[in-house]
Amino acid sequence: MSAVQLHNLRKVHENGFVALDGVTLDIADGEFFVLLGPSGCGKTTVLRMVAGVDSPTHGDVRFDGVSVVEVPSRDRNVSMVFQNYALYPTMTVRENIGFSLRVGKVKKSTAASSVNDIAAAFELTELLDRLPSQLSGGERQRVAMARAMLREPNVFLMDEPLANLDASLREKVRSEVSRLQRRVGVTMLYVTHDQVEAMSMGDRVALFEDGKIVQVGSPLELYEAPRNRFVAEFLGTHAINMFRATVIEQDDKLSVLIGSQCLALGRNANRFSNLWAFVGREVLCGLRPESIGRGGAGVLDVSIEFVEQLGHELLVSANLISEACGDGSTPSIRASLPIGTHVPRWEAISFSVDTERIHLFDVETGESLANLH
Ligand code: ATP
Repeated sequence: MSAVQLHNLRKVHENGFVALDGVTLDIADGEFFVLLGPSGCGKTTVLRMVAGVDSPTHGDVRFDGVSVVEVPSRDRNVSMVFQNYALYPTMTVRENIGFSLRVGKVKKSTAASSVNDIAAAFELTELLDRLPSQLSGGERQRVAMARAMLREPNVFLMDEPLANLDASLREKVRSEVSRLQRRVGVTMLYVTHDQVEAMSMGDRVALFEDGKIVQVGSPLELYEAPRNRFVAEFLGTHAINMFRATVIEQDDKLSVLIGSQCLALGRNANRFSNLWAFVGREVLCGLRPESIGRGGAGVLDVSIEFVEQLGHELLVSANLISEACGDGSTPSIRASLPIGTHVPRWEAISFSVDTERIHLFDVETGESLANLH
């Protein structure tokens, strides 16, 4: 297993396009590290450089502190699984999975039991004697992952490996990959654009935008303390509510005014650096649907528009009973409420807001106003 260090990686393509710009990361030995971001932000480019199938224009890739930029891909002992990973078409599932062990000349009986163990973990036991052409896309993908995991590489690279699986299988394989990675202790760099995968699998996550890292941290850090608006909007199962609001002062206390409704910040104002300087100014106020409740203090008055029954929760869309916000938008809001909550359509009710979980951002830069140290 290896720790992986990326130092100031820059990649400029022949047409002048800058795919990566100043990417620096320190990934610990045995860490499950997720590279997250929208399509085209440079995630795969990072993996290709760690694998050695592409080289940086500038910067360094190190395994355990030693530069591997000049080391050919085949000598790096990395294992890579892509979204569409090719299997050997004339080999059975058993032979495909065991291929690397055969090449490595492991004892036959040891190899057979390793193949059986990993096949069981990925629910492939019944399929061991089939050819790839006799498998579904999802089954082929699981064979590819089982084969890659059996190789025991220094570093494991996965690029959207679950994208072709259906929802229920994706959930299952997601936990299987996490479990196996922890058991084997291999360093994992895992690329996805799916924030649920990042939140549920990663020890740490780096969120990318336009070839740059926006924030690195544990999934919960990114979710609870987003550095800017982009991070806040990228993470979360339901999109964060984002309002234009004005910071106001009443009786020596700070509040935010959304439309004509006031949210008192109380001692939570201390979570933000120098918020007094924003009095009378516009900010962006982010409220996650899951930090809005029914009853309690009841700080935002809304009229219910419609309710989505999601089985485990109610996703409620409502309009703030208010004048328009600073940008003239209708202040609508979504809340995630427990099943069974009484939410009469079109009626006016009060949503309580967990003010400890309010996010505030600079309107111009999108940077968080919270103390993030
Ligand atoms: P996705 O999730 O869609 O796979 P990604 O974040 O993995 O996206 P990359 O594959 O790393 O993105 O590509 C980063 C950017 O570099 C993309 O905008 C892509 O179009 C661009 N790119 C990749 N290869 C080349 C090339 N040879 N020449 C010019 N631009 C390229």
